[in-house]
Amino acid sequence: MNDETVKIPHATAKRLPLYYRFIKNLHASGKQRVSSAELSEAVKVDSATIRRDFSYFGALGKKGYGYNVNYLLNFFTKTLDQDELTKVALIGVGNLGTAFLNYNFLKNNNTIIAMAFEVDKEKVGTMMGEVPIYDMGELKERLQEEDITVVILTVPANAAQQITDELEKANVKGILNFTPARLTVPPSVRVHHIDLAVELQSLIYFLKNYSGDDTEN
Ligand code: ATP
Repeated sequence: MNDETVKIPHATAKRLPLYYRFIKNLHASGKQRVSSAELSEAVKVDSATIRRDFSYFGALGKKGYGYNVNYLLNFFTKTLDQDELTKVALIGVGNLGTAFLNYNFLKNNNTIIAMAFEVDKEKVGTMMGEVPIYDMGELKERLQEEDITVVILTVPANAAQQITDELEKANVKGILNFTPARLTVPPSVRVHHIDLAVELQSLIYFLKNYSGDDTEN
């Protein structure tokens, strides 16, 4: 995201890609305006939250009119840097890493996994689809060559912290951590943690204990 979004609260910023995807579809179908109620129904975020989110970036809907789809699309495209292709790297080409390399991120946005890294000598030097797999020893040099500052981490938990320390030295600013390890990073590095096992457990827990309740979070 670019500098204009700095003052947007984190919770709002996290919802932007969700809004973007829906607005893009609306635009493609030729729709010119959308109400916060329609948006709310589609993205499953309550309309008061949507109005507050949108007010942060100056999109003020008019009563009885809603929001201008073109305006929103322009805003999201610029804010989420969708004009530019963002290259990211992946570390650890195991089962999960392989799935990500095979998954085409470009279908939904302008993000591409440009390279991967491994310690396994059998995998180093090969290609997974169109993505080259490099040796961990080349990490810093390769990332800096392509100006890559975002990394997806799919290594075993016990290797995660040491790799994170190396990433910091390679000037990486964002880590999408799929390992169960809780990472220690300096303030200059942002970590988003996705633990699939915990998410699944938590979903099952909510179904067992809160079924019938409307509360989502
Ligand atoms: P998963 O399904 O979680 O990817 P897996 O069972 O295929 O797991 P893991 O043991 O979790 O394999 O390792 C994932 C990948 O990370 C493997 O390909 C492994 O070679 C690689 N790996 C392990 N340690 C490191 C490291 N220090 N740096 C880079 N890659 C590593």
